[in-house]
Amino acid sequence: MSALEDRLRRLILDHGPISVARYMTLALAHPDLGYYARRDPLGSSGDFITAPELSQLFGELIGLALVQHWLDQGRPRHVAVCELGPGRGTLMADALRAAEVVPEFGAAMTVHLVETSPALRERQAATLSGLPVHWHDELAGVPSDRPLLLFANEFLDALPVRQFVRRSGNWHERLVGVDDDGALRFVTSPRATPFPQAVGGIDERLAEGALLELGPAREALVEAIAARLVPQGGMALLVDYGSDTPVMTGDTFRAVSRHAAADPLLAPGKVDLSAHVDFRAIAVRAMSVGALAYGPLGQGEFLGRLGIAQRLRRLLGNASPEQCAALESGFDRLVGANEMGDLFKVLALTAPDGPAPPGFMQHERRQ
Ligand code: SAH
Repeated sequence: MSALEDRLRRLILDHGPISVARYMTLALAHPDLGYYARRDPLGSSGDFITAPELSQLFGELIGLALVQHWLDQGRPRHVAVCELGPGRGTLMADALRAAEVVPEFGAAMTVHLVETSPALRERQAATLSGLPVHWHDELAGVPSDRPLLLFANEFLDALPVRQFVRRSGNWHERLVGVDDDGALRFVTSPRATPFPQAVGGIDERLAEGALLELGPAREALVEAIAARLVPQGGMALLVDYGSDTPVMTGDTFRAVSRHAAADPLLAPGKVDLSAHVDFRAIAVRAMSVGALAYGPLGQGEFLGRLGIAQRLRRLLGNASPEQCAALESGFDRLVGANEMGDLFKVLALTAPDGPAPPGFMQHERRQ
């Protein structure tokens, strides 16, 4: 049993079942016992691997996209480059290295990392040593008086979701309780939840037993990003696992440990937890405050349009046979069908008067 599991059991026995969102927040972000608090979960020896850890091509193309957008905006004198949930700092390091092709961009930017994990902050400091980087617990700490160039990879999927089950025409929240043996298990609240405001527009005809997942924390964060882009300009690139359907139903709450699926209730604090991002919902929230939303595009398509194949060829020209093999396998996983190439999606946000984001076409703007 994990130490956190014991705490959660006592909390639930004392106060009653907790929401999936509360469980996810405590399991991932508890200051002492949360999954991200003390460990670096990334890489082949960890629990999961992300695009920037697979290949430098990913971060380099993001960096070039930021520079391109800065140029398209008329080279603003000051710009805040910001990453949410930077992991090991690899994506930011690759992006900034590629961005050096335009030295004026380097002179205009300040770099901001939004990260809560002390262990990962240390790791980021090592990766980005020598660079003037600022850390923040929340987006609110990032300067808002200048254009923002923000990106986040596999960050929104770690923000908590709430789940509701359809019963006799009502919605009942799915909660985490404790069974007679003391194990954590899912229960359904006997009380109907007054239709949560965020669910507005959900199809009332959803079948008995249907499960609805909502990401209020994600939506609020995306709205806050959009509310900065609207007056100041800039762009946000949000990359994640998820879908873009009118109503997203079904349980996508998952645990991963050592590169394999795990039980999300079995060892809180020791396994990674995530849920798919509802791209439609976050795009709608961004547009509700006046930002433009483009896509989402499949990651493979997006990187293809940014020139990943050409960049790969250039790197292969100067690489050893081992480096060539690693570059090619990273490329295949980043863009491949049934790999990250179509499982991951990229949503872009801009100001209403901003140029289209690199990699997106005008007609891909959502209405
Ligand atoms: N973007 C990185 C890492 C993804 S893992 C990559 O692509 O490799 C998720 C990251 O988000 C970690 O750095 C984790 O510590 C951070 N994180 C998770 N929840 C957070 C929160 N609520 N606030 C800030 N950072 C968070």
